[in-house]
Amino acid sequence: MKKTENINTIINLCKTRGFIFAGSDIYDGLANTWDYGPLGVELKNKIKQLWWKEFVLENHNSVGIDGGILMNRNVWVASGHVSGFSDPLMDCRGCKSRLRADKLIEEKFPDVSADGWDNQRLLDYVNQHDIKCPVCGKRDWTDIRQFNLMFETYRGVTKDNSAQIFLRPETAQSEYINFINVQRAMRLKIPFGIGQIGKAFRNEITPGNFIFRTIEFEQMEHQLFCKDEDALREYQNYKQKTLAFYTQTLGISPENLRFRDHEKLVFYAKAACDAEYLFPFGWGEINGTHHRGIHDLSSHQKLSGKSMEYFDPITNQKFIPTVIESSHGVDRIFLALLCDAYHIDGDRTVLKLKPSLAPYTVCVLPLQKKDLSETAEKIFRNLQKHFSVSYDESGSIGKRYFRQDEIGTPFCVTIDYDTLKDGTVTVRERDTTEQTRIKIADLPKYITDKQ
Ligand SMILES: [Zn+2]
Repeated sequence: MKKTENINTIINLCKTRGFIFAGSDIYDGLANTWDYGPLGVELKNKIKQLWWKEFVLENHNSVGIDGGILMNRNVWVASGHVSGFSDPLMDCRGCKSRLRADKLIEEKFPDVSADGWDNQRLLDYVNQHDIKCPVCGKRDWTDIRQFNLMFETYRGVTKDNSAQIFLRPETAQSEYINFINVQRAMRLKIPFGIGQIGKAFRNEITPGNFIFRTIEFEQMEHQLFCKDEDALREYQNYKQKTLAFYTQTLGISPENLRFRDHEKLVFYAKAACDAEYLFPFGWGEINGTHHRGIHDLSSHQKLSGKSMEYFDPITNQKFIPTVIESSHGVDRIFLALLCDAYHIDGDRTVLKLKPSLAPYTVCVLPLQKKDLSETAEKIFRNLQKHFSVSYDESGSIGKRYFRQDEIGTPFCVTIDYDTLKDGTVTVRERDTTEQTRIKIADLPKYITDKQ
């Protein structure tokens, strides 16, 4: 069994087998946008359902919300995104390319970390080291300007500042601004958590590595509100919870995962780390666990003038709780799963997804169309009550098995002439290609037990 070292192999599989298509494909696309196809949406939904189950439904004292993408502009003033969420960009006068100054430096000098440098320092470095435009080869740069990463739009018909709103660049603020609403409505006592899954948008110009970096993406975020003295213990809990979710629930190989602590912490944080996956293009962040102090709630309290304090009925004290954030990128996890599951086994391609994640759990195949499709369709419809099932009656049986292996279907149920005589079918398993004869009536239990 071999794993792939080339992301293009995965991109190609995604396109040809209906996982992911280039966004706006018939109009030559829109950079860094993608559409999830019929198989992609099934896998994506399963990732989200499993996360929701583990981080919201089965997580002690946690509830979910589904906040709006559009919010009052002040949400992003309080969060700091209006003033500080920007990239340092400069234009090449030769070819009009717009580039990120820090990335340009880091690509030319991989040992340098230009993160957090101010505009002057970036420009000086570019000039002193004679860094030329990677597109046209000239060195004729404009000054560096900070370019806000939020997509902005206008509410109503006027285009003035009071009508300006943003597509949210992260989902977390919904949980913060609804903290009091949720706590009161659900009568929750600290520690409690709020989880949310939803789209976020960032106007980034950096090239994407397929769905790793996109301008529209989906996040799964859980914010735990707790006492400050419990926060570091909860932070460790959420790191472990994340590791268990990735390795046990999603089945990602532990050797392709690592935690990386942040070297520099923002002033309000006591701890922060990323979980990274080893993609074909290198290690990339798929999750962040962050101690956020009381920063978010107190910023909203200050700007809104509304109290964000929790009243502790036991100690009779009022305080702003500390937040532990667990943030997961759905699209990045999706890509990690495909890279991890992709195997070449002789002349077949096998997507070794866990059965609970596979777009189809079962495929029903009549060995011969004319005489067997009626029985096969009956079995197909019955299995649909229990699993996501596909049906394939075209081509040789070997080719059909290979097609299912390639999209990760763990079980193939084959209907042959013996089925008509004794009511049994062949169940073929994806990873071992082993075949077992099973009674039709026993199929749901047999497959459920093996999942
Ligand atoms: Zn240029």
